[in-house]
Amino acid sequence: MPNIEQIAKNIYRIPIPVPFPMKYVYCYLFQEVDGWNLVDAGFHYPDAVDAWKQVFRQLRVNPKHIRSIYLTHFHPDHFGLTGWMQELTGAKAFISKEDYLMVERVWGQNSRQASLVGAICKQNGVPDSLATQIEENMRKLSKHVTPLPSLTILEEKEVTLGGRSWKVILVPGHSDGLVNFYQPEHQLLLAADHVLDKITPNISLWPGCSPNPLKNYFSSLSKIDELDIQLALPAHGAVIHQLQKRISEIRRHHEKRLNQMFSFAKDGQTAYEIASKVFQHKELSPHQWRFAIAETLAHLEYLVSIGQLIKMERNGIIFYQQANKKGA
Ligand SMILES: [Zn+2]
Repeated sequence: MPNIEQIAKNIYRIPIPVPFPMKYVYCYLFQEVDGWNLVDAGFHYPDAVDAWKQVFRQLRVNPKHIRSIYLTHFHPDHFGLTGWMQELTGAKAFISKEDYLMVERVWGQNSRQASLVGAICKQNGVPDSLATQIEENMRKLSKHVTPLPSLTILEEKEVTLGGRSWKVILVPGHSDGLVNFYQPEHQLLLAADHVLDKITPNISLWPGCSPNPLKNYFSSLSKIDELDIQLALPAHGAVIHQLQKRISEIRRHHEKRLNQMFSFAKDGQTAYEIASKVFQHKELSPHQWRFAIAETLAHLEYLVSIGQLIKMERNGIIFYQQANKKGA
């Protein structure tokens, strides 16, 4: 039986299994006077569907009484079950404008995203066979997000969840359209994948996304660092009591990684060569390689944006080089 946790009056934290090392995505279910609202839906595969059926029984939720589904972002572990949930409940599904566009781009019919990811990999030095595996691996994801829901763009500045009013805060970084929800009186934050306990949220550069996601991420961290928060409720891992402390740890992690990548770049290395050094301690699957490359690119592009690295192309392959080595 799913280990449902009641966080406060009318707020339930629901572990929905995902077939990834983080094991669960935590969705949040809110009891309203006239029904229920939901934040995030999960990844579409049989274990997650079974978990939801048990949750509805356990909490005595009539699925037809779920009014709205608010999506924190478009990634498959959060978004994937939305269409299934919508068919079951008839709920409206809301997502930020930025991620609405990414849903169309990444999960839409005739999406070219997987081939574009493959092409970016090759351009950044990934060997052809691995790039092909990465591309195929990504293509397989689409069956975990279907049926696609009908989506409404979330334009409200505030939403009602559990009878309380929550501010909608756009925190681009992990995705361009990631949203958090903040409840100022109870000082609660629905943090989604913006800040996680233990693991650091993946900040990656993908085709069609902002050219500098890490820069966006740093300012989004500052945005929530300024708020009074007693308890942050993330979408993976444990709840966070000391959010500011966790934010500084995450900042330090990225600073360390930026320094490391800067030093590996020397007088010209590909993102693949740099990623191979950064992640040399573990054997990566094609799925993990995809994130390793995209995360490395986000850091390298940040270093380019602050003038520490320069980027050049030789025979269609991109190299990053320390700026101070130029003409040295
Ligand atoms: Zn996630």
